[in-house]
Amino acid sequence: LLLAYDPARKLARLQVTLERAAVNARMIYEILDTEPHQKDAPGARDIAVSGGEIVVDGVSFGYAGTGMVLKNVSFTAEPGRMTALVGPSGAGKSTLIALLLRFYDPNEGAIRIDGQDIAGITKRSLREKIAYVSQQPYLFEGTIRDNLRYGRADATDAEIEEAAKLAYAHDFIMEQPQGYDTPVGENGVTLSGGQRQRVSIARALVRNAPILLLDEATSALDTESEAIVQKALDHAMEGRTVVVIAHRLSTIARADRIIVMQSGRIAEQGRHEDLAQRSDGIYARFHRMQALGLDTDVAIDQAGAAP
Ligand code: ADP
Ligand code: MG
Repeated sequence: LLLAYDPARKLARLQVTLERAAVNARMIYEILDTEPHQKDAPGARDIAVSGGEIVVDGVSFGYAGTGMVLKNVSFTAEPGRMTALVGPSGAGKSTLIALLLRFYDPNEGAIRIDGQDIAGITKRSLREKIAYVSQQPYLFEGTIRDNLRYGRADATDAEIEEAAKLAYAHDFIMEQPQGYDTPVGENGVTLSGGQRQRVSIARALVRNAPILLLDEATSALDTESEAIVQKALDHAMEGRTVVVIAHRLSTIARADRIIVMQSGRIAEQGRHEDLAQRSDGIYARFHRMQALGLDTDVAIDQAGAAP
């Protein structure tokens, strides 16, 4: 207990927190940046994506100075289907997403997209094929149109508007003082949480990539915003290979495959109906707690912690 008050330790912890926040910010920036300035392995080729099948094959990974935080993880995200990553905080879900985007490479094993090991692929071409919607949507300084065009630099105004319509953002954008040319960010208009999420979903739609990585928000929106964000997401998911870090039972239950992660390993995987029926499973325990009205994240934490 005394150690918890040691200022040096406190500082070290703060340092770690800041570094992780920086990685998240970097993920958002770099995924949107299609400039070919990122370092690649010599001889790296551009990826060719048809269906968008993702195979994670025996992947182990540790950050510099940590033990393995992913341990022999294997699963397949089927093309055009939704795969949900579920598990207590610290299980390795975000790390897996970071590996899919090649912010890090596995220490062991490989990730293949349509049969191509992404370790030998140019990052620019990989990230062009992936749209990423983060938990806390980030809006840049600039107009709403600029923010949408970050999805794809050569998108036309018509494409941008079409995406905004599909994301249920067009109507509130038109209500802004200068429509699509209204500045947002620090010196612009303030959008609500639900509106920011719809802009970020529209941005993903502008990108029109075959793969969608989604970190579902944990912080609750009001019920009305929630429903409309969900409808926007449904459009963004359509026809794409989706890997979602899921926090809502509604998302988890309709996933085509649920990957239950615990301490860097896959504890269980399968469909909701199958996992929920196992008498001794983590997922079944989680589902029972959730049915009792426990918040999903609390339930999954407790289900994972129970003996
Ligand atoms: P989840 O998303 O499931 O909550 P994470 O992938 O964020 O889990 O974290 C998995 C493990 O890796 C945790 O023990 C976490 O503390 C550690 N970790 C996450 N990011 C970093 C980092 N940038 N450097 C070192 N350790 C990290
Ligand atoms: Mg996480």
